[in-house]
Amino acid sequence: MSDPALDAKLEVKQASKEVKESENVAEKYSAMTVSKNSEMNMGELSSAFSAVPTHKPVKKQIQFVEDKQEFSRFPTKTGRRSLSRSISQSSTDSYSSAASYTDSSDDETSPRDKTQVNSKGSTDFCVKNIKQAEFGRREIEIAEQDMSALISLRKRAQSEKPLAGAKIVGCTHITAQTAVLIETLVALGAQCRWTACNIYSTQNEVAAALSETGVAVFAWKGESEDDFWWCIDRCVNTEGWQPNMILDDGGDLTHWMYKKYPNVFKKIRGIVEESVTGVHRLYQLSKAGKLCVPAMNVNDSVTKQKFDNLYCCRESILDGLKRTTDVMFGGKQVVVCGYGEVGKGCCAALKALGSIVYVTEIDPICGLQACMDGFRVVKLNEIIRQVDVIITCTGNKNVVTRDQLDRMKNGSIVCNMGHSNTEIDVASLRTPELTWERVRSQVDHVIWPDGKRVILLAEGRLLNLSCSTVPTFVLSITATTQALALIELYNAPEGRYKQDVYLLPKKMDEYVASLHLATFDAHLTELTDEQAKYLGLNKNGPFKPNYYRY
Ligand code: NAD
Repeated sequence: MSDPALDAKLEVKQASKEVKESENVAEKYSAMTVSKNSEMNMGELSSAFSAVPTHKPVKKQIQFVEDKQEFSRFPTKTGRRSLSRSISQSSTDSYSSAASYTDSSDDETSPRDKTQVNSKGSTDFCVKNIKQAEFGRREIEIAEQDMSALISLRKRAQSEKPLAGAKIVGCTHITAQTAVLIETLVALGAQCRWTACNIYSTQNEVAAALSETGVAVFAWKGESEDDFWWCIDRCVNTEGWQPNMILDDGGDLTHWMYKKYPNVFKKIRGIVEESVTGVHRLYQLSKAGKLCVPAMNVNDSVTKQKFDNLYCCRESILDGLKRTTDVMFGGKQVVVCGYGEVGKGCCAALKALGSIVYVTEIDPICGLQACMDGFRVVKLNEIIRQVDVIITCTGNKNVVTRDQLDRMKNGSIVCNMGHSNTEIDVASLRTPELTWERVRSQVDHVIWPDGKRVILLAEGRLLNLSCSTVPTFVLSITATTQALALIELYNAPEGRYKQDVYLLPKKMDEYVASLHLATFDAHLTELTDEQAKYLGLNKNGPFKPNYYRY
């Protein structure tokens, strides 16, 4: 049995280890200021990069372009999302505006059976149709408009080229937003080869646009499982090019390289991992003493957890519900299972729409938070007969059981916002006495013998990923975090990172946030010398200890 006192001690020990790591790593960024205008001072960023010993003998000063607010907020358009089933299931941790506008292509030929050439004569790519490049370029430009912080990082650092010599293999959703990230990495000096982490999420026209500019992309929407691994292999295994960095989302690429190309894997300078599942795999490798490369856990960075989970779900829950059901939610009784980041976002959105929101929780702290936010905390069984909508967001399994589904009223809606499709016991609904009627894409009516219908969305998979889009701005935050993590790992002096999994230094989290503040013309208050001394802080941050919970 675990001893709570010992656990607490271990927790404190762990926290202080993280602080030390963070202080160590943050040296590079210590010159970075979250300035009063929420924009980093150019000279400061310059010295921050220059202060870092790198593998390159001569380090150029960054020549920054004029840092006016160049990217105003234009209206954005993100691609429509289709259901994303990842081979590893991991891709559900991260987002894509998945659907391609060019899916209706009649060409059934597998891209593997075609020879395509881009306008520069290169055949080093495999996409659905290179002729869609121009269309994809437009999609990328639209995404850029709501990713101004990432573009600003690109502009600030592109003369410095902090990724010069980096050969990055990436395995992520291939969407317009990811393309903005990839093109940023290229602008910062990297060579990139890319593949998709999900067989359904590739925007074909975007893959074509990237291939046209010389990024070797191996991906298309609707790959088979065999295609998926073939694409990963083509990315990694190419003559005269050996990757030295990995950007992964789900761990499939990392796993493939680790297993198939151990000698190449050993020479990798760093791995940046985005998803819960991928991070879990890295920790397992590390625990087994088999991780021979430093890795950065982006999933648990504050800028991911607090923005992807909370704000992204707050924005996309209603989108998913509305697109699929056309139901009015004002006055409806909704129960949200789980009051973590995702649950908080869902509750806030539904409350704002006038729904009567109940919460179920197992954790007294989250339960109390729900109470203080004005929600009734109940057991599901207490309200199961009266609610109109159930939304699960616990990350747990069998949160809604068949017995409870039997007791729901006619016309009630059931859906899930958690990672996997285990939260609602959907399998228990596949019995002979129940009829399933697919009424539209991602919407099933499950009909009981007495005629009662329960509306099941996305078969219990992630509602927002399956049925709506997520905001480009949130993806910009994640992409900027990924870019900085790559720069940090690539430029870190020998010994800063060991063969372990690291959290992003707090200073870098703060920097990502500061870059995005500019979009809102937000003006931060600067600490006075006296205040900084009083709080025991550096005026330039980090402003919170690692254990701070926000
Ligand atoms: P979290 O750990 O902060 O919150 C989950 C909450 O559920 C916790 O407070 C926990 O106490 C509670 N819980 C666990 N079992 C329960 C049960 N049986 N009944 C009631 N409450 C229970 O996690 P989070 O960040 O809110 O993420 C939740 C899930 O959503 C995860 O699976 C995560 O991967 C996923 N996620 C989805 C999206 C999306 O866009 N849909 C975005 C980020 C994360």
